[in-house]
Amino acid sequence: MNLKNTLLSKAISKVVITAAIAVSLSSAAFSAEQTLIKNVKIWDGTASKLSKTQDVLIEGELIKAIGTGLKVAADVEVIDGQGKTMIPGLIDMHAHLCLQEGMLVGRDAYDQMAMGARTAHSLVEYLDQGFTTARDVGCNVLGIAKAVNNGLLIGPRIYPAGGFLSQTGGHADTGSFNDMPGRIDDLERHGFGYIVDGKTEIRRAARQNLRSGATHIKLMAGGGVASEFDPIHTTQFSVEEFETAVEVAKDYGTYVTVHAYHDRSVNRAIDAGVRVIEHNFLASEKTIKRMKKEGVALSAQAVMSLEAFANPESITFFSADQKAKAKSVNAGATQMFKWALKHDLLIVTGGDMFGPAYNGRQADNMVWMKTVGATPLQIMKMGTSSAAEVLGWSGGMNPYKYGALGVIKKGAYADLILVDGNPLKNINVLNEYKTKFKLIIKNGQVHKNTL
Ligand SMILES: [Zn+2]
Repeated sequence: MNLKNTLLSKAISKVVITAAIAVSLSSAAFSAEQTLIKNVKIWDGTASKLSKTQDVLIEGELIKAIGTGLKVAADVEVIDGQGKTMIPGLIDMHAHLCLQEGMLVGRDAYDQMAMGARTAHSLVEYLDQGFTTARDVGCNVLGIAKAVNNGLLIGPRIYPAGGFLSQTGGHADTGSFNDMPGRIDDLERHGFGYIVDGKTEIRRAARQNLRSGATHIKLMAGGGVASEFDPIHTTQFSVEEFETAVEVAKDYGTYVTVHAYHDRSVNRAIDAGVRVIEHNFLASEKTIKRMKKEGVALSAQAVMSLEAFANPESITFFSADQKAKAKSVNAGATQMFKWALKHDLLIVTGGDMFGPAYNGRQADNMVWMKTVGATPLQIMKMGTSSAAEVLGWSGGMNPYKYGALGVIKKGAYADLILVDGNPLKNINVLNEYKTKFKLIIKNGQVHKNTL
C-alpha cells in the first residue's frame, strides 16, 4: 500500500501509469485483503457529533467491522489513526471531469487523446482533495468511467451522465453563428454532448448514453452563463421532450437531472418528472416549496454562484455578455440558498468549476455554503450522505451497489478520510486537505498516507 501511495502522489508519467496499473490489477486479485485502522473518532455521515474512539476494519472494498479492540491476524496491516477524525470520502455532485479547463478550450485546443490525458490528471486531483466519488453531469466521460472501474486509471468513482442533451441554440450548443440546422456540432464531434430536437432525437441520445454506462441523463432546460446562443431567461425543451427523456430514464431505472436557473425552466422540468435541479439560482420561494413537497433535489454550486459570479472579471475566458449573465445569477443565488435551507430541501453540492484557478478547490464549494448560513453538519451531509441518497436514484444503473456510499458503517464501501481536525467544528479544514488529510482510502485502497 505504501508503494501505491507513493505512486499516486506523483504526477502522472509513463512510468507511474505503468506501475499503477500493475498495483491496481494485483490488488484486485487479493480483494479480501484486510486493513485495520485503530484509534479514530468517527463522523459517520449523519450524526451531529463524533463517536468515541474506535477501530475500523476494512476487508477488500468494504468496511467489515467497527468497534473497540478489534482483533486481526498477525499479518494484517494495522494503521494507527492517532485519535484523528474519520469521515466518509467526499462526493462532488456536479463535475465535468473532461472539461476542467473550460468547455471552449476543451472544444478547440485539444484532440480527444490530449483531453483524455488531461482528464487523467483531473481524476488524481479529485482524489487528492478527498473526493472519492464524482457525479459527472456532462462530457465525454463514459470511457473514462469504464477505465477507472477496470483499474486502468486512478480516480474517484464516477457516476457519469455521458454527453449532455441540449436543444438547438440551447446551453450546450457551442456551434458558430453560420451553422445550419441539423449539422454535427463541434461539441458532438468531441463527445461532450448532443444537440437534439424532438422526441426521436432525445430518445436516441439518451439511450446511446445509457447503453454505454450513463447512470442518469442530463438535459439543459434553460439559459446559461458560459454559452453564446441562449440568454439566461430562455426556457429550453418542451414538456413532451422532457417527458421523453424521463420515460427513457425510468425504463432504465434511473432519473433525469437538468441545468436550470429560473422558475419557468425548473417547473416545466418538474412537471415532466425530473428529479434533480442543477443551479436553480433564480428560482422563487414558491418553486423551492414545490421542490420540497415533491422530493426534488437541489444540486448547488456555491463557489461559482457566490464567489466567481460576484466578480466575473476574474473569469478570463468569459465574454462581456457572459460576465453580465454571471452577475445576474449571483444576485439571485444568496436568496435562493437561504430559502432552500429554510425549507429543508435535499441539497447536494458540486463544483461545476472550470479553469486552472479552480482545479484544486473542489472542497471550497462546500465550505462556501457557510456564507449563506449552512451549518458545518449540514454542509458535511451535503457532500456525503445526502449526495449518496441522490446517487442511489440511479437504481439499476448504479455501478456501485454492493455497499453504501457517503457513510462510515459496517458494509459500506471503504471510502474514507482521516482528518487532523474536526470538520463539524471547523469546516475550513476541508480546504487544508494537503496538510490535514492524513489518510485517504478509496475502495479499500490507500491513496494517501502521511500518518
Ligand atoms: Zn455544469
